[in-house]
Amino acid sequence: ADNAGTVNFDRSCLGIREVNKREAMTVICWFRRVLRLDDHPALVAAAEGGPVIPLVILDPAEARAHPASAQRQAMALPDLDAALRRQGSRLIVRRGDPDAVLSAMIRDSGARAVHATQGLPFATDDGLAAAVEGAGARLHLHPPADLIPRGSVLTGTGTRFKVFTPFWRALRKGSIADPLPAPRLSLPMSWPASDGLDWPEARAAMNRGWDVVARHVQAGESAAHDRLDAFLDRLDARYGTRRDTPSDSDATSGLSDALAVGEISARRLWHRAMNAQAHGIGGVEDFLRELAWRDFARDLFDATPNMGRTCWKSEWNDFPCSGDGPEAEAWRQGRTGVALVDAGMREMFATGRMHNRVRMIAASYLVKHLMIDWRVGLDWFARCLTDWDAASNAMNWQWVAGCGPDASPYFRVFNPDTQAAKFDGKHRYRDHWLKPGAQGAADFAAAAPRSWVLDHHPAPLIDLDRGRQRALDAYARFRR
Ligand code: FAD
Repeated sequence: ADNAGTVNFDRSCLGIREVNKREAMTVICWFRRVLRLDDHPALVAAAEGGPVIPLVILDPAEARAHPASAQRQAMALPDLDAALRRQGSRLIVRRGDPDAVLSAMIRDSGARAVHATQGLPFATDDGLAAAVEGAGARLHLHPPADLIPRGSVLTGTGTRFKVFTPFWRALRKGSIADPLPAPRLSLPMSWPASDGLDWPEARAAMNRGWDVVARHVQAGESAAHDRLDAFLDRLDARYGTRRDTPSDSDATSGLSDALAVGEISARRLWHRAMNAQAHGIGGVEDFLRELAWRDFARDLFDATPNMGRTCWKSEWNDFPCSGDGPEAEAWRQGRTGVALVDAGMREMFATGRMHNRVRMIAASYLVKHLMIDWRVGLDWFARCLTDWDAASNAMNWQWVAGCGPDASPYFRVFNPDTQAAKFDGKHRYRDHWLKPGAQGAADFAAAAPRSWVLDHHPAPLIDLDRGRQRALDAYARFRR
């Protein structure tokens, strides 16, 4: 038994040739934002290659850039480790830069191959192969178990879709590959040392009451499957309309964080939902269409990896807008004086999530009423969201700002008050986050710095009609 209390292979039971053979065949499976055993192509390939060392790398750069998402990943690790241990394996956790960690792991273990899921965007994988090969192993990158392989759904002329609806129709006509069952892993002769399962850099970078956020998270592969079961039990034909009501927390699956950290695959969701549809459950088609937006975002991001930094429609890079400043800070802190926007910003800060419709309204308010650069908002979402996904975040921000593919036209300016009357008519959502004494308001107060918590609702930063007109005038000048 090693010092972690688990039993390594007893070398004396095996002949020396068998020991050498096993060591020479050992492979590393890097669980790279795919924190599950089910439907994990890289893990299946690793298991076919030889004894597997399951590895997670906690990269400090990631913790700094996306602390809530990093912390969310750390929360999934105990469940993953437990699932591996049930088959005698275990999770090896290492902190550091991925190139350096992989090189050290290859040298420590003598592994001859590393299997991992392709990164997003794929271009970031270029340096990895050199690091792995430099340490004496081969890198095998596998596609993520999304609905479709990137670039596989194309227009009649063989180009990528730039508009969602035809993309969706083409995807729906094709077939989605079956999910892969969890493989049985064979064990290496010895286990490399592991760091702990927690991620202190992520917790520190969160810079807010993580324990409050953690109350809103159900982490782990098994919890993701339980949540999917529960969602399919309550799914019905009303999904398409109910999903727009911010106070109706049961209306949607709530699985975006599980998808983002790879606790469950999009293919598994698809096939489970299709099975429910075959049993007469309503609302499935609308749900699958939402799920396809995620693949659409990934396809766009793959084709234009700079989408998180530059406008997809390049002429929009010259659109006049302000950068970061006091108004952006008021938006981040949920004190714009616009109730639905402030409620949404508080929800995100306290829970790591924000309702989809409120995301659209809060984002639109920032880029249109305040005329602030969409990247200021994108960066804040990237810091705060536990479901942060580079592609979905970028596509949606560019959609709202009007500079992305298939974007909402710039002249369509959401009026947050009209939206509130339509989707939060009984003020349930607003009151939950803004009314003193309400649970949401208390959660926000517990998570936020003291100076963010006001005892009054602030005056609006800008009159909504004036803000709208200012944006439309700027747009008219820009078009001229
Ligand atoms: P459900 O209604 O249950 O939908 C099922 C799945 O479909 C979701 O889990 C998600 O994976 C996918 N989906 C639904 N809507 C969208 C969409 N508009 N774009 C892409 N995929 C979608 N989603 C993220 O996962 N990560 C992000 O970083 C992110 N940033 C966003 C930023 C902005 C400005 C906006 C407007 C939206 C953003 N979204 C993002 C999309 C959306 O808000 C969330 O996916 C949704 O709120 C998830 O809730 P759910 O899982 O209950 O959705």
